Amino acid sequence: MSTPESDPTPEEHESETDFDPAGVFEDPTEMDLRPGADSCYKCSTCDTSCPVAEVDDDFPGPKFQGPEQWRLKQGDDQDIDPSITDCSNCMRCDNACPSSVPLSQMHNTARGEYVEGQAPSLWNAEDSLAEGEYREALTYLRDVPSEVSIEFLRNRVLSNYGTLAGLGSKVPRLANLVMGNRITSWANDRFFGIPSERDFPEFADRTFREWWRERGGPKVEREDKRVAYFHGDYSNYNTPEVAKAMVRVYEHFGYEIRVPTQRCSGTPMFANGMLRDARRAAAVNITNLSEFVDRGYDVIASCTSCSMALRQEYPELFDFEGTREVSIHTYEALEYLRIHEDLEEELGESKADFPDLAYHAPCHARNQGLDRQAIELFGELDSVAVEDVGDSCSGISGTYGWKSEKYEKSMEIGGEMFEHMKDAQGETGLTECPTCAMQMGHGTGYDIRHPLEVLEAALVD
Ligand code: SF4
Ligand code: SF4
Repeated sequence: MSTPESDPTPEEHESETDFDPAGVFEDPTEMDLRPGADSCYKCSTCDTSCPVAEVDDDFPGPKFQGPEQWRLKQGDDQDIDPSITDCSNCMRCDNACPSSVPLSQMHNTARGEYVEGQAPSLWNAEDSLAEGEYREALTYLRDVPSEVSIEFLRNRVLSNYGTLAGLGSKVPRLANLVMGNRITSWANDRFFGIPSERDFPEFADRTFREWWRERGGPKVEREDKRVAYFHGDYSNYNTPEVAKAMVRVYEHFGYEIRVPTQRCSGTPMFANGMLRDARRAAAVNITNLSEFVDRGYDVIASCTSCSMALRQEYPELFDFEGTREVSIHTYEALEYLRIHEDLEEELGESKADFPDLAYHAPCHARNQGLDRQAIELFGELDSVAVEDVGDSCSGISGTYGWKSEKYEKSMEIGGEMFEHMKDAQGETGLTECPTCAMQMGHGTGYDIRHPLEVLEAALVD
């Protein structure tokens, strides 16, 4: 049996990922969203803040997707409007609403219900398989081909990027060769709706977890300063340098770090309405993280969408034991250090050798009130100039920009940010979100770094 910190065997992983698959959002309308819907006074502020509505005339906007659709559904049992799948889950409307209407919670539940209805036999078959009811599963499986479209399959694969990345990282060079190939790229676009304009992110030769295991885990052990690190899939498989920077910076400040067994935070699953997948992933994460929280650890995430999921989306959507405690004890990595350490003083003495930076605040950082933190902090450095490139959305929103039919809109949304980046003095981008980083690099050709990497360069020998 794996401990909360060890890598699971394939069998254990299987049982962890299949945790309690039944009864997930059996009837999402049972979630009591009436107080939220009633709080809406139709000011339309949310609509004017929506980056998708700005570029897509067919998208009715967050007010419709949230309170209006919820009311319609209560009234005469209408189906969920398919346009709910055009919402990118950037959550800017949440932040904009003066009346605290839980818009993203409404969107997530509506999207989940819509997607559930797209492939009911598939979900039922998976439930039956997990319950060991093989005969019943077979009955459902017969109907699956007529229900499941290529678009649904593409969205499920994108939502479960960690599964794909786990396979790719077993043979990273071969996977990079295949995925970077122009024929693969053309075929992905033509047959699966994954835009050929995008470069598939490369897998690292060695994952973060492999590196962590080989170094023998934590180098610091102490009871008064300890954190459990939620690295997420991307830092594990694609950018382990970010996760390593986190480890080196935190150990520089004397923290004991633990790396619990974990799955994707669920962010891409929420955005694609794959709530059953999100629930399975959340079950593993909450079970393992809450064991550390109970022992006095705080949870640190280096991706702002991951910290957003653990803090806000989990308690909005799930009720596992420990969900609230994990939410309360989760922080974004830079945020946590700013609370507990005198970073300004440490940085004041640094002679960091880092190129000038063009910083983009991810939408999910904005929702957590973290959109100015990198500017405020690195503005203290004499040796590095950091410029904010504005408050627009990058346009990629996780998987949104990874769909061929959304690619042009994604680039149009990101246009303002690209222009500001090009006008900025620095030619290196800076952001906390890995998919914003992809979009920034894609739109400008700049190298993009994470704030933890700047801290590492400034503070660690
Ligand atoms: S901003 Fe809030 S109160 Fe205003 S229309 Fe949107 S949901 Fe309703
Ligand atoms: S989450 Fe973003 S894309 Fe979706 S409705 Fe709100 S602002 Fe628009």
